[in-house]
Amino acid sequence: MNEERIQAALRDASDTQDVKISARMLASVADVFEESFADRTAVIVADENTFAVAGEQVRRHLEDSGLEQVEPYIFPGQPTLYAEYGNVEKLVESLRRHDAIPVAVGSGTLNDIVKRASYECERPYLCVATAASMDGYTAFGASIEKDGAKQTLTCPAPRAVLADVDVLVNSPERMTASGYADLLGKVTAGADWLVADALEVEGIDEKGWSLVQDHLRAWIGTPTELREGDGEAMDRLIEGLIMSGLSMQAYESSRTASGGEHLFSHLWEGGGLGRDEDPPLSHGFKVGVGSVAIAALYERILERDLDSLDIDEVRRNWPSREELEKTVRAAHTPPLEEAAVEQSLAKYLEAGELMERLEMVRDRWPELRERLAEQLMGADELRDMLREAGCPTGPDGIGLRWDDFRATYFRARMIRTRYTVLDLAYETGILQECVEELFAPGGFWSSDSEARSSAAG
Ligand SMILES: [Zn+2]
Repeated sequence: MNEERIQAALRDASDTQDVKISARMLASVADVFEESFADRTAVIVADENTFAVAGEQVRRHLEDSGLEQVEPYIFPGQPTLYAEYGNVEKLVESLRRHDAIPVAVGSGTLNDIVKRASYECERPYLCVATAASMDGYTAFGASIEKDGAKQTLTCPAPRAVLADVDVLVNSPERMTASGYADLLGKVTAGADWLVADALEVEGIDEKGWSLVQDHLRAWIGTPTELREGDGEAMDRLIEGLIMSGLSMQAYESSRTASGGEHLFSHLWEGGGLGRDEDPPLSHGFKVGVGSVAIAALYERILERDLDSLDIDEVRRNWPSREELEKTVRAAHTPPLEEAAVEQSLAKYLEAGELMERLEMVRDRWPELRERLAEQLMGADELRDMLREAGCPTGPDGIGLRWDDFRATYFRARMIRTRYTVLDLAYETGILQECVEELFAPGGFWSSDSEARSSAAG
């Protein structure tokens, strides 16, 4: 990892004070623990699988250093641990019996459970990452299913994070692939922030931007090597994921790391896509498909001359608040429906605001188009990179029906106020025609181009 970059990022992070990434890092776990927590008692939290691959070693290293520990808390290894609130409650109940500092040894789900449980017990914790599977290690908030819906529950990021590249390289291939896809999603996430910035919806924060974007191409540039288990490729991936999490801490929002591709993922997650598989369909795999989908939409939009947009025509077709609410309700079912209505109405533009927005689009499009072209990569290219890393690249690969996939282009923007290219396309009145082009014969998602691409792959 690049020590300087991580240290610079840590200076702006609100919760995380220490990050250590390297080979043979597990051997230093006691030092990392003591630096953050002095001589406090530790409690390892793992599941049977992660305890076997790293937890046992962590326990020994802490023991050898004379640190006190209470008995580890170990979740069952089968079925795959699921991020549901019941697991948080079980852990909280156990943590309340002592005052030891949790040492989470695991990947995304385990980390999220420990993150939230530690918060409920008002304790900081140490995270020992066992797979480069997502960018949540250094992010605040935990993605947990509660009352029947996946939600991001409040909680700070870990005080310290340790990742041993040898452990990461030996984690299941699908987990590395998931992390790769989550990181690749920053290409379109960045583009969406450029759009929001140009239209004065949400300005670019230079620090938050550069933590994620400055080295993105290098971090995602070696998917084949990553799949082959190359340590340097893994080092780049985990650095990118860690930096992405830190950027969210620094900017106090997920804007730095999440755009339309994440809205696609969240929508599918809300609908329970792949929830009951074992292991459940990963966050990253959904984000990866979302990234290709959003990049393909960008290609349709970048071909257009929005600088000659017919504003009056768009305005004539603009829905009223009531009409919009009806459309949103028709597109969603509970539990997402109410949230979608609330979020959609929150970003609804009145006629005057719409005019202002569209004039801005018209004036700024030539410059924005250039910046976007520079930021983006081709949908084909992203698809190839995902395939090389071992990720699914389209709806078939994640068990999504094609009509639901197509409808996602219209539904996704309704579930969050976050401004993305989906809003730009919607507000300029071209979303429908762009999506039609994508699925028409010869379009990016047409059946013949899918067949061609899988024949090539
Ligand atoms: Zn993500």
